Amino acid sequence: MRIAIISDIHANLSAFQAVLEYIDTKGVDEIVCLGDLVGYGAFPNECVELARERCTFSLMGNHDSAGIGLTSIVTFNRLAADAIRWTQAQLNEESKSYLKGLKFIIDRDDATFVHASPCEPEEWTYIMDGFVAGEAFDNFVTSLCFIGHTHVPFTLSEDGLLNQYEPGVRSLVNVGSVGQPRDGNPDAAFGLLDTATREYALHRVPYDIKAAADAINSAGLPKKLADRLFEGN
Ligand code: ZN
Repeated sequence: MRIAIISDIHANLSAFQAVLEYIDTKGVDEIVCLGDLVGYGAFPNECVELARERCTFSLMGNHDSAGIGLTSIVTFNRLAADAIRWTQAQLNEESKSYLKGLKFIIDRDDATFVHASPCEPEEWTYIMDGFVAGEAFDNFVTSLCFIGHTHVPFTLSEDGLLNQYEPGVRSLVNVGSVGQPRDGNPDAAFGLLDTATREYALHRVPYDIKAAADAINSAGLPKKLADRLFEGN
């Protein structure tokens, strides 16, 4: 079975639509989402609805949780907090009730799926260095753990090899971000896993960044959130 693993859509509808169109040409059996459907972008309800339609499941991200008031925005930087306040005012009842029902972590097909870290998922730990990554390996029992949250894609094997993914080797995999990539490449990112062969690859999809940026500016969201999409940071 081929699974598309998407994360961090962040209410970027044009990126989400472009990724779904691309996925539809790749013989994918199902799509799963690691969370952060909302926050930063101008289309929170549209993205929640599309995820409900297209994804087998979506997981709770910190922006989803803050959007429904479960995580305090005290932990957010100024830009993120401004966007969350705007998002809270936009979310309709249907979106809120969908977001409220999201799980934090799911194990399936010998893989673990979680937004930030398998180590206390509700703490939203950022896995940015080897030590934190090493700790993460002690907190899942499957052979692959898929995460998002930092918006920077990588693969890390249990032996510490970075970006040298090998099927069958226990690994932690960050699938990057659909709606706000931060690795210097503005194209939307997501991962594709073949559960039979354990092959995994990161894919990049160009999308209409200007449309996403214009919508952010017209919504009155911070201009920096529009500008950063062109830079991919
Ligand atoms: Zn995010």
